Amino acid sequence: MSWQEFIDAIAHTEIEFPHLASACLAQAILESGRETSDLAKIHNNYHGMKWRDEMREIATPVYYETSSEPTGGADFCKFASKVDAVRGYWRFLERFPYKGWRDHSGSVAEFLAFISPIWCPSGYKDDWKAKHGGLNYHEYIMKKLYPEAVELLKDDNYSELREGNRGEKVKQIQRELNEHNVTGLKVDGIFGPKTKAAVIAVEKRLDLTPDGVVDIDVWLRIHQLQSTKEPKTLWIPFAKRMSEIPTQWTYPQGYPKGAVVHFTAGRDNPEGTVEFLDTVGFPCLVMGRNGKVYQAFPLNRGGCHSGTCHQNYSIGLEIIAAGRCNPVTVNGVRKFKAWFHSSPSEYFDESQMRYVTQNGSRREGWYQKYTFAQEESLIELLLWLKSQAPDVFSFDDVKGHDECCDEGGRPGAKNDPGGALSMTMPEFRELLKHKYVEANK
Ligand SMILES: [Zn+2]
Repeated sequence: MSWQEFIDAIAHTEIEFPHLASACLAQAILESGRETSDLAKIHNNYHGMKWRDEMREIATPVYYETSSEPTGGADFCKFASKVDAVRGYWRFLERFPYKGWRDHSGSVAEFLAFISPIWCPSGYKDDWKAKHGGLNYHEYIMKKLYPEAVELLKDDNYSELREGNRGEKVKQIQRELNEHNVTGLKVDGIFGPKTKAAVIAVEKRLDLTPDGVVDIDVWLRIHQLQSTKEPKTLWIPFAKRMSEIPTQWTYPQGYPKGAVVHFTAGRDNPEGTVEFLDTVGFPCLVMGRNGKVYQAFPLNRGGCHSGTCHQNYSIGLEIIAAGRCNPVTVNGVRKFKAWFHSSPSEYFDESQMRYVTQNGSRREGWYQKYTFAQEESLIELLLWLKSQAPDVFSFDDVKGHDECCDEGGRPGAKNDPGGALSMTMPEFRELLKHKYVEANK
């Protein structure tokens, strides 16, 4: 059975993200019609991959007639084997149009949502949708084909592993062993003496025969342990919970690794700010001038808020403050206005302002200060995030938006937090580390 051979090739070909094997198969079910297309049957091309020069290292070009091409045919990839077809799929994604796909590798749904509009642009047009129950390409694969792909790959889930084995399944067990306090096992896919010792340790803990062989009992019991592991708290107990707004991805480790500190440059209307963030598609936590936090999405999910360098793993914190301001004279008195307003509706007294000099990523100028309550609340929030996921959340990844822009190659593009915060961001990180140590003594 040739189709089964292809499924086996997917199950046994080492790939960077084993959890995405089912995405590769689900897409092949659609593109090859479960190997009913000649492209799959004759040329081992299960994904309808067009010929591209970069594929030369793993495929050869073959002209293939198809009604889906306006010219009646085109050059497609021909693979020598089914394993090459699987490797070719991942090679295809290394090409320029798919740049950044690894940032969307957290889940199958996220991955497919990212690659699909590039892979099949017509899958987002009305005629495609009309023929596919109103679903676009990635939604169709996810809803209609993904469950089948998972079933097809399932039989291989509990393959027995012992010393001397190599491959993706070994990596998987090494990863799972690491999660159960057998720390420091190198995830290299090689089942050596150290992996064996770790398996024996877990077997003893679970009252299983300590033979160092990963059989189905070991797999199942380890998965059981995982499902009873303490879930991370996804809703902040001291935040006001708002109705949920859309997010763009799930964090690969189930929790943000860091945070980016912003100011809103807007007035004190936190709920309005949440609505605004919803309309522009930037899911962030919001903090009012009184320090109250507003949360409109769970902490395992996130989205855009600060360019590309930090947002994929950091949660955005929008702290309400006018931010960078300019002095103006109003009725003979010196006042301040947000820098972007030509005719502002509010002016601030000098008592609300702070002047800072340039220091690292911080820009010189006048800023409306965060309130005392806001700084207290910000510290409390960050300490709490750390306490929920100490192995994931790192104070070193608490950055100012200005720092993110500098690191992203756009120095000076943003001012926040600048002088809104009573110290520089490097000082703030040190303060957080110190407070965390104090709190956990
Ligand atoms: Zn910002």
